[in-house]
Amino acid sequence: MINAYAVPSAAKPLESFQYTPAPFKDEDVEISIDCCGLCHSDLNLIDNDWKNSKYPLVPGHEIVGKVIRKGKNVQGLEIGQLVGVGWQCGACLNCEFCIAGDETVCSSKVRTCVDRYGGFADKIVVDYHFVYPIPEDLDPLAAAPLLCAGITVYTPFKLYNVQAPQSVAIIGIGGLGHLALQFAKAFGCDVTAISSSPEKEQEARQFGADHFLSLNEPAQIKKAFNSFDFILSTVHADLDWGWLGQLLRPRGKLCFVGLPQNDIKIPVRLLVSGNRSICGNGTGSRTYMMEMLQFCAKHQIEAQIEVMPMSQVNEAIKRLKTGKPRYRIVLTKDLFRK
Ligand SMILES: [Zn+2]
Ligand SMILES: [Zn+2]
Repeated sequence: MINAYAVPSAAKPLESFQYTPAPFKDEDVEISIDCCGLCHSDLNLIDNDWKNSKYPLVPGHEIVGKVIRKGKNVQGLEIGQLVGVGWQCGACLNCEFCIAGDETVCSSKVRTCVDRYGGFADKIVVDYHFVYPIPEDLDPLAAAPLLCAGITVYTPFKLYNVQAPQSVAIIGIGGLGHLALQFAKAFGCDVTAISSSPEKEQEARQFGADHFLSLNEPAQIKKAFNSFDFILSTVHADLDWGWLGQLLRPRGKLCFVGLPQNDIKIPVRLLVSGNRSICGNGTGSRTYMMEMLQFCAKHQIEAQIEVMPMSQVNEAIKRLKTGKPRYRIVLTKDLFRK
């Protein structure tokens, strides 16, 4: 039996919930969960914003814990090993996309929390192909957000070949953005943080920003038109994308990882005239996940976190909705241990 916290129906507070996992398979790993990050996507799922939530719903997809049981076909993981699980925890591993190493677009992908129960629980059973060793140099709590926020902002740098000496702007300095700044810096880019919160400038610079632009200062933004090779938007707000798109240099890319509420509107002329493009990214492949965790260990990239006990999950959700967390909330297993 697994003890968890579940949302009984859309937008309701989480409550205690027990479930029996599916019969244990030879490829399965059972993990005793130590902590789990709280992601903005969890809020979307809880509130059924994407109309694909199934209730009861156990959120949580930034899971860190220890292997306590493994099936006989499991390779590369040992009992007691510290491991992580992210947004995706299954795929067919046979289709053209899986074979090409991009399981994220497999039509049989299994999404933690959407297609099964997630990590706000004392344990979870997952296919070992989607269980990742956490490098020893990383703090387990600060590593948890890497499993969703981290991989989501790391992957675009690889997919779109973003590297030194390109100029990169990160829009939004929150859970995703504060990690994206650290990656951009580590990749050797010229890094600009763009935010509507001028009070975040100092911290943005500590995370790696060389420059800071305030969204509240249109003159500042306008001065930077035509200057970025790559813009990564991490915000959920509806901004004037047609106007901000002018920040792109010719051949530049505007990449969305945050989901604005409404569709975006961009003048096609902006794209056509300078070979500019718009793209997006959700999570990242298994290859990028393992690479990203090693990259973080090497460059000492970690999430800045606020730690709360899992029993206070409803308070944590309220706090995330205020936008106040600096910068990611991680819930630790407490009550289950009593
Ligand atoms: Zn997430
Ligand atoms: Zn597949």
